[in-house]
Amino acid sequence: MNRANKPVITRETITAMEDMSFFTYAVIFDDLLIVSQKETSCFVLKTTEELILIDAIWPDQRAFDAIVRAVTDAGWNPAKIRKLLLTHGHADHTGCGKWFVKQYHTMTYLSRTDDIFWKEHPIKPDRPETWKDYKIDVYIHDGDRIISGDKIIYVYGTPGHTPGGLSYIFPVSEGGEIHMAALWGGTTPPWSKEGVKQYLKSLDYFVTEAMNKKVDVALSNHTAVDNGLERIEYSRKRMSYMPNIYIIGQDGFQKFCQVFRRLGYEMLDQL
Ligand SMILES: [Zn+2]
Repeated sequence: MNRANKPVITRETITAMEDMSFFTYAVIFDDLLIVSQKETSCFVLKTTEELILIDAIWPDQRAFDAIVRAVTDAGWNPAKIRKLLLTHGHADHTGCGKWFVKQYHTMTYLSRTDDIFWKEHPIKPDRPETWKDYKIDVYIHDGDRIISGDKIIYVYGTPGHTPGGLSYIFPVSEGGEIHMAALWGGTTPPWSKEGVKQYLKSLDYFVTEAMNKKVDVALSNHTAVDNGLERIEYSRKRMSYMPNIYIIGQDGFQKFCQVFRRLGYEMLDQL
């Protein structure tokens, strides 16, 4: 049987990132919530100290409302969202952060390089509502560890998709069992040969680090990559005896990363 080995990304995929008419969410580990619109996802990680938001969908109040609603439905307190970690400086990830800063005084984290990139290279240069609209409080980079209560979030510099893109590895738990989850921050390769080479180099680095950390959980901030909406739907209805669809094992994580490698090689062929 022929199965897709890479995501289908079209013009419609890009347009749908701005569609604020649909949101869904699921508690996928005891301490991890995913919130998605059609194409873009963010995560809320619960520690013994606070809640940490990773990425923030799109710069629109409806995205903020959807995240707050999902956190509340999960039985968590949105006022405990004290940190916002961004993967990179594109509007579909910096998203609705300014509402969190305003409402909950959330501290924001990103690399310095991508903070500048976010300001100087908006993805929609003709649309001021998508431009950089909040300050970054803490500049983070490769090798950093963000410690929060019982958890450590490992920070990896993975430039390529953007010049200062970051990826994260952190523990999650289910029924007392700890797993290691990885989020590759910048999904697609850029449109330049040098950029793609950097993207592939970063990917190799991240895969090696993920192996060292025994990553067995694959997360994605774009639903096209991992059948994200279907995985959320499954997780919402999953019964207690069913497996957690995000736990794919250490070999599974290596295979998952082949998707990004393939996207990189295909882009090189086109350039
Ligand atoms: Zn991006």
